[in-house]
Amino acid sequence: MLSPELLVRLPKAELHVHLDGSLRPATLIELAQSAKVNLPSKDPVEVARFMKADGVRDLAEYLERFALTIAVLQTPEALERVAYEMVVDAGADGVRHLEVRYCPVLSCTGGLAMSEVLAAIGRGLRRGEASRVALPHRQRYRSPRRRVPAR
Ligand SMILES: [Zn+2]
Repeated sequence: MLSPELLVRLPKAELHVHLDGSLRPATLIELAQSAKVNLPSKDPVEVARFMKADGVRDLAEYLERFALTIAVLQTPEALERVAYEMVVDAGADGVRHLEVRYCPVLSCTGGLAMSEVLAAIGRGLRRGEASRVALPHRQRYRSPRRRVPAR
């Protein structure tokens, strides 16, 4: 029988994980304080429960959680930290291949340039990768404003 400990130790691939849905509750609370973003609670257990979004009525209510995480992901420091921590946390869960998704344009609303967003996320992912807990494979969304070239 598979024990929880063995399940954690088994190597895994996470093929679709969103950066803005992967903040540690304590990190979200800390970043929200410095970004002056109001969370429903300052207790990590309560924030974790809220972010799980069990029992939401519809997609709009679910996406309210992402409005909060996007609001705190507006500085290079926050982006790098969250990217790093998600790789470390995935590695601790036995993930050896991590495909990260994010929409860089959503982190440009606070004044960052797209290149700054990409560089900060890249630094965080590489730092996590260097810790050898997981091997991130980066992906990103296309900007909603980007035109698809005609064929
Ligand atoms: Zn997705």
